[in-house]
Amino acid sequence: MAADECNIRVVARFRPLNDSEERAGSKSVVKFPADQDETVLISGKVYVFDKVFRPDSTQEKVYNEAAKEIVKDVLSGYNGTIFAYGQTSSGKTHTMEGVMNSNDHQGIIPRIIRDLLDVSKTNLAVHEDKNRVPYVKGVTERFVSSPDEVFEIMEEGKNNRHIAVTNMNEHSSRSHSVFLIHVKQENVESEKKLTGKLYLVDLAGSEKVSKTGAEGQVLDEAKNINKSLSALGNVISALADGTKSHVPYRDSKLTRILQESLGGNARTTIIICCSPASYNESETKSTLEFGKRAK
Ligand code: ADP
Ligand code: MG
Repeated sequence: MAADECNIRVVARFRPLNDSEERAGSKSVVKFPADQDETVLISGKVYVFDKVFRPDSTQEKVYNEAAKEIVKDVLSGYNGTIFAYGQTSSGKTHTMEGVMNSNDHQGIIPRIIRDLLDVSKTNLAVHEDKNRVPYVKGVTERFVSSPDEVFEIMEEGKNNRHIAVTNMNEHSSRSHSVFLIHVKQENVESEKKLTGKLYLVDLAGSEKVSKTGAEGQVLDEAKNINKSLSALGNVISALADGTKSHVPYRDSKLTRILQESLGGNARTTIIICCSPASYNESETKSTLEFGKRAK
């Protein structure tokens, strides 16, 4: 299949070793062959993705090479999903959000919104409306006309997420964050309408439940999260396989929500986020295996 016919792209991003890993004497166990940006080696095993981003890759590079393409697709009326998968502290939120108002350090979401709302580039007049259209129960859809408005909404969303987490259990911090941008365009002359939905998903940490030492309610929650991540893995691998007549979207809430933006004509990009440290080697391997299933 030619690269531009394939609707699922998988890239891997490795963050630098962090202070606590260095203090604990952890070493980097990954190797990046010279002049090669699709391959990574971990204890002798080779993994090949559409792109491998090394620890020194900038936010701008990751955006340009992993996400920017989807802006054009969504404006052409395709649905899309970009999601970040990996264990806690592997760099998912850094990749998806980064530092919102820093030009250098902002992640994919602020950059994508800037490009989507860049009227000069897209010739797109943004329709403003004060109506709030209810979507899934408990979810509100808002009309926006500037990146700042989007950031405000994201802050609100984060506060809500925080409250929900605190009510359930203070020590629980694992949840998926799903951010949907719904673009509706109408050509005022031809009245032709185009709709594209883009899901930007910062998944809950993929680490094994046993490692978190969770009990009771937190343990149940953790099991649910692991169940939804494995349901996502099954959906992605059925789609990547291409010969399966049954794609198990109904196995989790997450895959039901994402259904319209996974498969079919939808463009999916999976960003596999990894730590390079020896301490995390087994989680890193299972994260890379998740990415491999989508190829
Ligand atoms: P996750 O969302 O997967 O739990 P984070 O994105 O919060 O992980 O990253 C954990 C820490 O590592 C944060 O302090 C973040 O700023 C830092 N970090 C992650 N990726 C990178 C990177 N590529 N370069 C520099 N720092 C990073
Ligand atoms: Mg995070």
